[in-house]
Amino acid sequence: MALENSLLPKVAVIEKITRETKDIKTFRVVAPAGGSPFNFLPGQCAMVSVPPVGEAIFSITSSPTEKEYLEFSIKKSGAVTQYLHETEESYHIGIRGPYGNGFPIKIYLRIGPRLPLPKCTLPSM
Ligand SMILES: Cc1cc2nc3c(=O)[nH]c(=O)nc-3n(C[C@H](O)[C@H](O)[C@H](O)COP(=O)(O)OP(=O)(O)OC[C@H]3O[C@@H](n4cnc5c(N)ncnc54)[C@H](O)[C@@H]3O)c2cc1C
Repeated sequence: MALENSLLPKVAVIEKITRETKDIKTFRVVAPAGGSPFNFLPGQCAMVSVPPVGEAIFSITSSPTEKEYLEFSIKKSGAVTQYLHETEESYHIGIRGPYGNGFPIKIYLRIGPRLPLPKCTLPSM
């Protein structure tokens, strides 16, 4: 079975845009033939490119169990994000990834109760 090259951008389509706040929008993205452009682990991110402007990295905010689409919640902050905020549904973008190790949620669910919990120290008031 050929491995997918996560360095190569794929074409994706913005299917739905939801305004969350004055400067944050959630972009639902699908492959041109439908479905999520790729599988990922919780906590991973992807590079999103808009050819006229450039590329930036965003966390994937949809669930890894959702196979119909990917979602990104993006704050308008610079060139790429400003451009994305001006696009409309059905706009085509480039997407590559997933990147980052992700959280080993399957391992945790299997042996979680035996994993030591990280120590949390609160600052003294
Ligand atoms: C691992 C990772 C995950 C990320 N996930 C998300 C995400 O889920 N959603 C999201 O909105 N962003 C996320 N970011 C941040 C995003 O990649 C950057 O904000 C990116 O630079 C935006 O590209 P741009 O071209 O719009 O801005 P640029 O043109 O690169 O930046 C323009 C100017 O704005 C400043 N700037 C950029 N971003 C911010 C910001 N967030 N707050 C204040 N000033 C800023 C820069 O310092 C620069 O001066 C993530 C970054 C990393 C490293």
